[in-house]
Amino acid sequence: MGASHLAFKSLMRELGNEPIVPPKPSLKTLNFGTRFAPEFACLPYKILLGTYVEVLEMGADTIAASGGVGPCRAGHYAQLHRQILTDAGYKFEMIVYEPPSIGYRDFVHKIQMLNSARLPLLKLLGAINRGWAKIKAFDRLEELSHWIRPRETGNGETSKAYRQTLEIIDRAESLEEIKQAEKEAVALLKSVPHDPDFKPLKVGIVGEIYVLLEPSANLEIEETLGEMGVEVHRSMFLSGWTRDNTLFDTLRIMAKGDPLKRAAQPYLAEMIGGHGQDSVGHTVLYAKEGYDGVIQLAPFTCIPEIVAKSVLPAVSRDLNIPVLSLSLDEQTGKEGVRTRLEAFVDLLARRREIKANTRLAHELGGGA
Ligand code: SF4
Repeated sequence: MGASHLAFKSLMRELGNEPIVPPKPSLKTLNFGTRFAPEFACLPYKILLGTYVEVLEMGADTIAASGGVGPCRAGHYAQLHRQILTDAGYKFEMIVYEPPSIGYRDFVHKIQMLNSARLPLLKLLGAINRGWAKIKAFDRLEELSHWIRPRETGNGETSKAYRQTLEIIDRAESLEEIKQAEKEAVALLKSVPHDPDFKPLKVGIVGEIYVLLEPSANLEIEETLGEMGVEVHRSMFLSGWTRDNTLFDTLRIMAKGDPLKRAAQPYLAEMIGGHGQDSVGHTVLYAKEGYDGVIQLAPFTCIPEIVAKSVLPAVSRDLNIPVLSLSLDEQTGKEGVRTRLEAFVDLLARRREIKANTRLAHELGGGA
């Protein structure tokens, strides 16, 4: 998802494995996925399956995948993928990582399965820490690019600089080098000519994790909106999600006091699997923080996001915030999405103009 494969590549290398980096998901990836997947499987399932075919064809003999708990199909994906690929004649081992909160020992054992170099504990933790530092750096840079892009004065300069920053972080090895590389990358992004005083429309992006984090799955929606002059705020990044769902979840710190769940409570009180409840909670928070609009990214047939979509009109009405739900599957085209985004952005711009005029009329009326 996103740039995270670069961090996992370094980690796998440090653990003594040869990482096979999959190509960016493409139409070919999706064609492999749809050929082998059940028709009603969701988009992430199909892209992952296609990606597995691509890396197996490139010579991978082991696949490390995440498992999952709760009422969402993701918990079965690894087993289904393994079965389908085995039936198709591929030979490989699949290691499935379940959340440490449901089996700490199993989690540690599976990390050791990838420790081919037999690194002692301290060195192993050091390697994981460096991978984690890279993931955090990638997330900070992506977030910064979301701020710079709508303010850039050139055309496409932010996206070009952002791609270079990934290479800078990728080259760093030690923790010190990663810190230095991040500083260099931040400076590079900030050097893109931009107008810091410009006040763009602000749109929150909510939805299912895979389509949020992987640009090819969401047809580069953040880049498209940024180039239309809209500042996007993505509700989820890999580092934050991992922190909340491994460390915090394991320690049960957030169970009662999670502000996201509290925000979703009046509309969707139950955890329904995937990120459905989060999508509702984030939309409520974006409305309260004064965002101009929210876009929900939902893989076609994703039940948690279908439930969230049915609740979001009530949130939109009560809190007076426009919400656009986009359903994504292999039939969705970039130009079709762009047209819907343009219409949505026009609507948001008109609402902002009306609000500003009303405020002005009020002030003038008060003055008279
Ligand atoms: S949350 Fe939705 S898209 Fe993601 S795995 Fe579950 S059903 Fe599929």
